[in-house]
Order: sequence, then structure tokens, then C-alpha cells
Amino acid sequence: MSEIIKTSAVVLGKMNYSDSSLIVTLYTEHNGKVSAIVKGARSPKSKLSMIVDTLNHIEVIFYKKESRELQIVSSADLISHYPNIKSDLESTKYAFAVLELVRNLTIENESNNRLFKGLVKILDHFENKKETPAILFARFFMFLITETGYEMMIDKCSICGKQLLPEQSAGYNFSSGFVCNECLQSHSGFEKIDSELFKFLYCLKNKKILNGLKAKIIDDGNSFLERYVKEHIPDFKGIQSLNLFK
Ligand SMILES: [Zn+2]
Repeated sequence: MSEIIKTSAVVLGKMNYSDSSLIVTLYTEHNGKVSAIVKGARSPKSKLSMIVDTLNHIEVIFYKKESRELQIVSSADLISHYPNIKSDLESTKYAFAVLELVRNLTIENESNNRLFKGLVKILDHFENKKETPAILFARFFMFLITETGYEMMIDKCSICGKQLLPEQSAGYNFSSGFVCNECLQSHSGFEKIDSELFKFLYCLKNKKILNGLKAKIIDDGNSFLERYVKEHIPDFKGIQSLNLFK
């Protein structure tokens, strides 16, 4: 028996299958990440390939069978196709990087409603140019790290417990996390994180407003987050989308 599911979803990616079908990866509101086939989507008469397109926010109906790897999409309607994102290269690059992160760091059929809401919200922010694409990406990256269970402990020194402040530099290594300046001096095996980079990470983690950031600090921050995930999840290969557009 299969179940009929109607849900809101974001299209994380797609690929052609056989002569006229598509295989898509969706992040759904109630069922988490789902792989599905859209039969006949690429035939000239079908509008489905326009609707079930990468990045789009859609309302989809599919037949779900637990034992099946690919679910079957029966219909789909468009909620948003994010025209402002798609007409801007920088926004496209970072929005695709968001999709790539969700594709690679979530588990099939594991629902996370907060993650779904966060995904739609960040795409809306990209669409409305709430902040620069690189900062929006960094905000989502930090959020996803927390949602996937690898929360960055950035408020207190992991050795002495002293409060860490965003105006100061800090120390970091994989096994201990962040430490204060004094512990950085008195212990070996930590690298120094300079104050600008630390402040950026601190503000991302604590959802604070960011102003007047240099592009280099944002890039360094995103590279730091990428490295942090690689350290915690050895299977994670890094973010391809950011390299494709370079
Ligand atoms: Zn300390």
C-alpha cells in the first residue's frame, strides 16, 4: 500500500531519467528529504519540468511507499520560482550552495520542520536581498550545523569556562573547540582565530546583525564553517557549488 502525501517542498536538485522522466530530490515540509521520479516530465506536453525545477518552492503530491527508494510524483504546483535569485549570478551561486548543503547533510525521510522553515526563509531573504548572498549563506550554514547536531560552542572557553567576547581573538582546535586568549597562550595545539573572523562566527551563531564586513572575512568565515563540517563529518567533501561559479 502506498500513502498519498501532499506537502510543500523545495527542489534540491534534479537529473534526467530515461527518455522523458526526471529524478528529483525534494526537501519536504513533513517528510524531510525525499527522492522521487516525475514520469513524463520532459515530454513537450508536460509543464511539470518547469515547476519541479531546482530551487523552486512547490506544492507537491506524491505516492509514498516506505520500501521504495524513489517515490512517485503525481502533480505539482508552483509556490515561488525565485526570479530575483535566478537573475543574479552571485545569488544563484550561494542559493545553490544552500541546496547542496541540505542535500548532503540531511538523511532521507528524516523530517525536520524547523530546517524546512529555515530553508524557505533563507531563500526568501536571498530573493528579497535582505543581506549579501555570501552572508545569507553563512547564516544558513551555521543554522544547518546546529540542526544536524554539530552545534558550534562559541560562547565560553572550553578550558577555563570564561565568557568569550566578539571583540577579541580566540583559539580553536577540532577536539576542544574554542578557547580564550589566555588559554590559547598557555596551551599548545591551538590555532589563533583573529578577532574579525571570531566576531563574524560569534554573530552568526548568536544571530546578531552584521555591518561593514570585509568580503575576505565573509569568505574566511565560510571556509571555516566548511572545514568545521569536514572535521566533524569525514564524508563531507566540501561545497562544490561555490567552486563551479569561480
Ligand atoms: Zn580560557
